[in-house]
Amino acid sequence: MGLVVQKYGGSSVADAEGIKRVAKRIVETKKSGNQVVVVVSAMGDTTDELIDLAEQVSPIPAGRELDMLLTSGERISMALLAMAIKSLGQEAQSFTGSQAGVITDSVHNKARIIDVTPGRIQASVDEGNVAIVAGFQGVSLDTKDITTLGRGGSDTTAVALAAALNADVCEIYTDVDGVFTADPRVVKKARKIDWISFGDMLELASSGSKVLLHRCVEYARRYNIPIHVRSSFSGLPGTWVSNEPIEQGEQQVEQALISGVAHDTSEAKVTVVGVPDKPGEAAAIFRAISDAEINIDMIVQNVSAASTGLTDISFTLPKSDGPKAIEALEKARTAIAFDSLRYDDQIAKISLVGAGMKTNPGVTADFFDALSRAGVNIELISTSEIRISVVTRADVVAEAVRAVHSAFGLDSDSDEAVVYGGTGR
Ligand code: ADP
Ligand code: ASP
Ligand code: MG
Repeated sequence: MGLVVQKYGGSSVADAEGIKRVAKRIVETKKSGNQVVVVVSAMGDTTDELIDLAEQVSPIPAGRELDMLLTSGERISMALLAMAIKSLGQEAQSFTGSQAGVITDSVHNKARIIDVTPGRIQASVDEGNVAIVAGFQGVSLDTKDITTLGRGGSDTTAVALAAALNADVCEIYTDVDGVFTADPRVVKKARKIDWISFGDMLELASSGSKVLLHRCVEYARRYNIPIHVRSSFSGLPGTWVSNEPIEQGEQQVEQALISGVAHDTSEAKVTVVGVPDKPGEAAAIFRAISDAEINIDMIVQNVSAASTGLTDISFTLPKSDGPKAIEALEKARTAIAFDSLRYDDQIAKISLVGAGMKTNPGVTADFFDALSRAGVNIELISTSEIRISVVTRADVVAEAVRAVHSAFGLDSDSDEAVVYGGTGR
């Protein structure tokens, strides 16, 4: 008998029908002789709706209270799922993140898991129950407060529980058939990937492929937990994310030269205009940002105009942190002598990811060529060993992704990418 951790995303449990469909699938897994631990997300777009509601009552909602609000979404789905499973004749119990032993640091809205003590979950499955755990939430031992792990955090809950319970597999069920070479909502000719390494998946995830959260992939790599990403709507095999290539028939799946194209429209750009070009200024700007617990992504400093001795510094950050960043910089204005701040939330980031980039020098030029043929203007550039990213205007993102996808020969011969549910929000 094995122990399986299954995570069902919001689109898989969007309504009562969805919950009943998922419950049937869970009971089948249990009946085939496995112990089953399920991690569930909030129904459909519940989390977005709760955030909208919070913003209607407060422009920058207090972090602790926002966590209290958002964790209610997963409490609804976990209880309903447990009821649906029980009505199929299978015992089930639901648990909050705190009850399941998900211990985090005390940073609200993007806490990190620091330990998982799954005693109650193990005891529950040992008694024959299916244990249902609310995703995306935990508790801080320091403050005793409830925390959330950041958007998409249920993926991380699933992998962390799989590691703590020594599970045989962690299955992430979603609304597409696996990880594709691009978002199937944007590229109909995207191809399903059978196997992808942790390294390439990490880059895709941190570049905006929200099919898996990057922290979840980080965690899986650290504890070497293979992940199987698949659809809860079809019975098809999905994508394996692991260290070692999987076998297919007699053959091993090869590492792809280029794994895929990711895009991200969740970031904004802040430009600090007129910064004195002298040591310590950049440090002061980014100290103010980091003290506000904001993670930044790309940074560009323009060459200073010799006559003024002033320069501009631009950086990208999650849109959700935009107001906080502007507030932090305005507060630091006496210490940092800049002229003004510009905030631009109409940007998109497009990234090409593949381990083959290391050994193929032409990839960068081909990427820029594809964008220029599509008439896409590049505003910022950043690279890693296996990724190139550019920032463009948000309104050209779909065209740009399709152009790059075609240029690197990633298009499939058929329109095989099916999106079964979800609103893509
Ligand atoms: P869930 O609610 O199951 O957590 P998400 O919406 O978080 O689902 O993630 C699934 C979505 O990720 C898909 O519907 C798809 O639009 C998007 N996506 C982005 N990039 C990719 C990719 N490379 N492969 C598959 N899906 C992707
Ligand atoms: N419900 C949370 C969100 O929408 C967590 C998750 O779905 O993983 O971000
Ligand atoms: Mg998700």
